Amino acid sequence: MIESELSKEIRSAMRDLCACYPSEYWRKIDAVRGYPDEFIDALTKAGWLAALIPEEYGGSGLGVLEASIILEEINRSGGNSGACHAQMYTMGTLLRHGSSAQKEKYLPKIASGELRLQSFGVTEPNSGTDTTKLQTTAVRKGDHYIVNGQKVWTSRVQHSDLMILLARTTPLKEVKKKTLGLSVFLVDLRKVSEDELTVRPIINLMNHETNEVFFDNLKIPADSLIGEENLGFKYILDGMNAERILIAAECIGDGRWFTERSTAYANERVVFDRPIGQNQGIQFPIAKAYINVEAADLMRFRAAQLFDEGKPCGKEANMAKMLAADASWEAANVAVQTHGGFGFAAEYDIERKFRETRLYQVAPISTNLILSYIGQHVLGMPRSF
Ligand SMILES: Cc1cc2nc3c(=O)[nH]c(=O)nc-3n(C[C@H](O)[C@H](O)[C@H](O)COP(=O)(O)OP(=O)(O)OC[C@H]3O[C@@H](n4cnc5c(N)ncnc54)[C@H](O)[C@@H]3O)c2cc1C
Repeated sequence: MIESELSKEIRSAMRDLCACYPSEYWRKIDAVRGYPDEFIDALTKAGWLAALIPEEYGGSGLGVLEASIILEEINRSGGNSGACHAQMYTMGTLLRHGSSAQKEKYLPKIASGELRLQSFGVTEPNSGTDTTKLQTTAVRKGDHYIVNGQKVWTSRVQHSDLMILLARTTPLKEVKKKTLGLSVFLVDLRKVSEDELTVRPIINLMNHETNEVFFDNLKIPADSLIGEENLGFKYILDGMNAERILIAAECIGDGRWFTERSTAYANERVVFDRPIGQNQGIQFPIAKAYINVEAADLMRFRAAQLFDEGKPCGKEANMAKMLAADASWEAANVAVQTHGGFGFAAEYDIERKFRETRLYQVAPISTNLILSYIGQHVLGMPRSF
């Protein structure tokens, strides 16, 4: 893939920025399960998180391809985009389906970083991947909606001013298709009381702020609704291809970081009087991981290019996400093996990144769901669920 001058410039500027936040920075934050405030501030001030917001709303109006390079470089530097990637793309639902008034009110402030929209409440404990069965309801009462229910794995809600929420507005038994009757809301978390919304952090495998969220008669203004009532599922699906491509890029960043670290260690570590990389038992798995990352990268670029040209890219976006997630996970395993015992020591960062990159097999979309999409929608095999 020959990169454009713009892509090269973005890559180079991101490398300079990320160099100010080396592995020690991320390691310290990981140890205390903190939030990378300084890094996010720097990214925001430089405008990188507003990459996908059109210029008329104060963003830089870049394509998904350029945005993907920004996230790739964060992960490639040893950092973790999970702390901030949603600020880049969650606004897509508002941008594509919000009213002019909503866009004018929120997008410029999201672009400047004054408002953080990086919380996305879809997954629920009782429905999981089967999104149309979600049980959170929003009932219209005059000029308000009353929201009741529960979400799980709602990431970054403690570092967000706004939340995109998917809730049922028409009961499942009353709709013709199960995908109807769901609506999207933009919830202003700054205006919500503790009685209406409870947030319980979930301690998890890596340092990632994610939570259980409980809505108890949460009252939100009727104009929080995005687009048309009952069409929310379609709006959420509309954002999935961009998300898949961006996540693929993060995996590629991780994959490159792992193979670079593995190669360096394999060249430098001497056992039995020779570098361990001289043993093909160590060298070949690194070479194979490298090949798989590079191949996934091609699919990422193909998907991003189609997306930016406004062409259908569901197949490519899903394949890119899965190839990249598998490649980064393979590269992570190889890195642990190459580093021997030191692969487990926090000061080498391998174990941290290993934990972080494991997530991509499950979230934001699990590998099985991608396989079922390809099996059913691309290859035309029978529907399974
Ligand atoms: C750290 C983290 C952060 C997250 N952040 C967010 C967030 O910000 N917002 C949000 O809404 N969600 C978030 N999620 C949720 C994430 O999207 C879900 O965990 C993921 O979609 C899987 O859903 P589940 O956990 O309910 O698994 P389940 O649906 O219970 O599935 C369990 C396993 O079974 C598999 N499975 C289920 N059905 C089938 C089938 N028919 N065929 C084959 N396999 C199947 C799944 O692929 C999965 O591997 C996050 C999750 C994690 C772990």
